[in-house]
Amino acid sequence: MKNCPNCKSEVDDHFELCWKCNYSFPDKEVVEIQDFTEQNIERKIDCLRCNIPMEKSGNFKFLEGARTGLFGNIFELLQNRESFDLYHCSECGKVEFFIPKK
Ligand SMILES: [Zn+2]
Ligand SMILES: [Zn+2]
Repeated sequence: MKNCPNCKSEVDDHFELCWKCNYSFPDKEVVEIQDFTEQNIERKIDCLRCNIPMEKSGNFKFLEGARTGLFGNIFELLQNRESFDLYHCSECGKVEFFIPKK
């Protein structure tokens, strides 16, 4: 254990970053990590084209007999998964699928 010089929290020796205040031991200063904890719960995805956050359209469950047609390959890819998250860009309409984190 080592103590964070910034917030005095106990930090495990093998961590280079303070879990509480983002103090970086190698850099000897607090580093900015945007939405680091939030990212673990809900994804933050920026549209590569528009550089704006994509909106979550919802979580879709697999339906029996859905592995046909346009989405066939995607469903094939995601087999053994029960559901996936769908995100869309409100600017250009780009849609992306993501497997929900457990
Ligand atoms: Zn700290
Ligand atoms: Zn876009």
